[in-house]
Amino acid sequence: MEKFYSVAIDGPSGAGKSTIAKAAAKALGFVYLDTGAIYRTVAWHITMMGIGPKDTDHVPMLLDDANIKIDFREDGQHMILNGKDITGEIRTPEISACASKVAALSCVRDFLLDLQRDLAKQHNIIMDGRDIGTVVLPGADVKIFLTASPEDRARRRFDELRKRGQEADYDTVLRDIILRDEHDTRRSAAPLRQAEDALLVDTTGNSLDESLDVLLETIKERLKA
Ligand code: C5P
Repeated sequence: MEKFYSVAIDGPSGAGKSTIAKAAAKALGFVYLDTGAIYRTVAWHITMMGIGPKDTDHVPMLLDDANIKIDFREDGQHMILNGKDITGEIRTPEISACASKVAALSCVRDFLLDLQRDLAKQHNIIMDGRDIGTVVLPGADVKIFLTASPEDRARRRFDELRKRGQEADYDTVLRDIILRDEHDTRRSAAPLRQAEDALLVDTTGNSLDESLDVLLETIKERLKA
C-alpha cells in the first residue's frame, strides 16, 4: 500500500494554525485539512434544524441526516452539507461558540473520526485541529502544538474579522477565546492537549511570518528523517 505522510498541527483558537498549515501544505504539495471547519459544519446543521447543542438527545438523530463532503479547490477547502456549499456561513461568532459545544459531544467526535482518518489514508496531508496528534492521527509523521497568549490570539482574530468586514469588539473576541479554550481543554472527549511527542511552538509576540519559516524547516527536516 502506498505510504502517505501526515502532519498534525494542534492548538487553541487563533494561534495561527491555519495560516501555518496552509503555507506548509503549499510548500510541500500536501493537502491541507481544516478540521475545525467540519465541527463548524455540524454546528451549522444543528443550528439550522433549530436544535441547540445542549439538546444532546436529538444530536445523534440529526447526525444521520448530515451528509458532509469536503471539496478541496484552488481557493481552499469548501464544506458541502447535503449538497449545499456553506463555506461562507460557518465563520460567525455564533457558529464558533456552537462548534465548541457540539465538539464536546462524543457522538459528534466519533461520527467525524473516520471521515478525517480516511482522508489521511488517501493523501499526503496536513491537518489542523485540537486532537489530531492525540486521537485522530496518533501515528502522524510530524506533530506540532502551536500556541500563543489569549491576548495575542484575540488580536489576530479581531483583525481577521475586521478584514472580512464583520463587526467586532476586541474585549468580546478575547472573552470568547477564553471561553472556548476552557471548553476545549476541560471536556472529557478528546480534550485539547499537547501530544507527548509534539513540538511546542509559542508564537506570542512574533508575527506569524516569523514563525512560519522556522516551522516549515522543522516539518521538512522531520519528514526527511
Ligand atoms: O479551529 P476552529 O476554531 O475553526 O474550531 C471550531 C471548534 O471546533 C473549536 O472551538 C473546537 O471546539 C472544535 N474542534 C475540535 N477538534 C478539532 C477541531 C476543532 O474540537 N480537531
